[in-house]
Amino acid sequence: MVAISRLIKESMERSSWIRRMFEEGVKLKSQFGADKVYDFSLGNPDVEPPESFREVMNALVHDREPGAHGYMPNTGYPFVREAVARKASVQQGVDIPASSIVMTVGAAGGLNTVLKTILDPGDEVVLIRPYFAEYYFYIQNHQGRSVESNAGPGFALSAENVRSVLSPRTAAVIVNSPNNPTGVIYTKEQLEALAAVLVEHGEEVGRRPYLIADEPYREIVYGNAVVPSAMEAYPETIVVTSWSKTLSLPGERIGYIAISPRCADAKELFDGMAMCTRILGYVNAPAIMQRAVSRLLDEKCDVASYARRGAVLAEGLRAAGYEFPDPQGAFYIFAKVPPIEGTSHAEAASLGLDVAFVMHLKKYNILGVPGVGFGAPGWFRLSYCVSEKTIRDSIPHFAEAMKDWKMGV
Ligand code: PLP
Repeated sequence: MVAISRLIKESMERSSWIRRMFEEGVKLKSQFGADKVYDFSLGNPDVEPPESFREVMNALVHDREPGAHGYMPNTGYPFVREAVARKASVQQGVDIPASSIVMTVGAAGGLNTVLKTILDPGDEVVLIRPYFAEYYFYIQNHQGRSVESNAGPGFALSAENVRSVLSPRTAAVIVNSPNNPTGVIYTKEQLEALAAVLVEHGEEVGRRPYLIADEPYREIVYGNAVVPSAMEAYPETIVVTSWSKTLSLPGERIGYIAISPRCADAKELFDGMAMCTRILGYVNAPAIMQRAVSRLLDEKCDVASYARRGAVLAEGLRAAGYEFPDPQGAFYIFAKVPPIEGTSHAEAASLGLDVAFVMHLKKYNILGVPGVGFGAPGWFRLSYCVSEKTIRDSIPHFAEAMKDWKMGV
């Protein structure tokens, strides 16, 4: 008898790091008290949704519109898709019609719908290290194969590195900006360079890969940062996003796919996605959430509070000697495992010192996630979805952990 499939066992093994650190956090909190544990493991937004979300939900509950709880077209309510298309057009700088919008069960549901639609068994999807760990499983869900390329210096998007892993089986490249886990935003020039590589490759092999731009953090950016449009850079672009982070609604599962109207197969893709969202069992995105977000398109959570926390954590870590690129958006810092005497960073990565360092941090009641979980050993991720007080209280412990690590304690 086989209880669960081999693939699922393998997946559980591979995804064990975030889960393991989360579970360690629960244990430590019961042992030392929640205020003595500095849990930077999970990317679960702790900022509340804006007040306007509660007002809209109250209004919707009292809105006795007939049929409001029934099935609808699989791609979502037409009036919601119209409103979303207007917003997406402004963000992407491309005139996107409602006929290019598919409402989804979060960005995760959107990514699975896209991959189910475009992948044949054995097709390849390029990921850029470090990457959101779930991509690997989503690709596997649809019998695809993930192929990994490296980011450039400072975790920039490197078109040349992507070029080196393209093949006639490449169906798509996934980019994520602002990035989880690095907080880096890809520039317009980097996206254009990638577009040129994909166009050239398409001409060579007779198959132009899709560019899947996963953008759930698009609206969580700091200072004057802007997120350039992947759709402007490349015609065969499919944007996937959600309100999980923008409105702090990850449990409500609402997002959308926008297919570029410049995409040669836009109509066929849309029809395929309408079919796939249904047969994957999502059927359609949650009805009440579609109505809610259509009334909240100009709203967002308190981005300034993430900016403040990021700045406090970055300043404290840097003063303690940690190295990392400053986050430009999202709510993560991806830091280098500190060097130990006589070991280069490449050696630290191959020796699995990211795991050792995360275990070392645990001795100081700090929980992070080793880079190996994101395809990038030698680094570790800290998610600052925690209070500013927790961040401030954690800094002396980070400093102590660094000092002891260097001394080999
Ligand atoms: N993509 C990235 C890069 C993420 O970090 C996440 C969630 O953390 C998702 C997709 C999934 O988002 P959602 O909760 O909207 O499905």
